[in-house]
Amino acid sequence: MQRTLIIMKPDCVQRRLTGEVLRRFEAKGLKIVALKFLKVDRATGERHYAEHKGKPFFEGLLSFITSGPVGVGVLEGNDAIAVVRNMLGATNGASAAPGTIRGDFSISKQNNLVHGSDGGESAEREIALWFKPEELVSYEIAANDWVDAGV
Ligand code: UDP
Ligand code: MG
Repeated sequence: MQRTLIIMKPDCVQRRLTGEVLRRFEAKGLKIVALKFLKVDRATGERHYAEHKGKPFFEGLLSFITSGPVGVGVLEGNDAIAVVRNMLGATNGASAAPGTIRGDFSISKQNNLVHGSDGGESAEREIALWFKPEELVSYEIAANDWVDAGV
């Protein structure tokens, strides 16, 4: 069982797609274990995107991520990190495959709606950045065997 961090970015909120995005993740079989709604301050944005510091798009990315409220969550499930990344599609919405979130709703490289952790280490780091341990809610989904049985 894996956990991954998602951010429904300001464009996702402004375009009123947060429900559609969460609907897709839930329908897939992922479990929401944490969820909050907030405006990102610059320092947190810089820490979240630290790996991109110095790149040409970094300043634009920071202005974008701090430009309006976001939804931040933690999803849990079998291979959750890869499952979410696959459901997001390629970074650039213009070339993301149809059927993916970015492929269906984005036509921009920057405004690509949703962030998802790209590996085990980044998931751990990002979850710790955005949530206190006690904000991750442990619970069982009734009849979950129908969703994630097997290996
Ligand atoms: N981004 C951008 N221009 C680029 C590459 C990325 O504005 O040329 C933005 C985009 O919002 C992307 C984020 O920076 O989601 C982080 O980039 P990364 O390469 O990590 O893409 P992701 O992991 O989100 O697919
Ligand atoms: Mg990334």
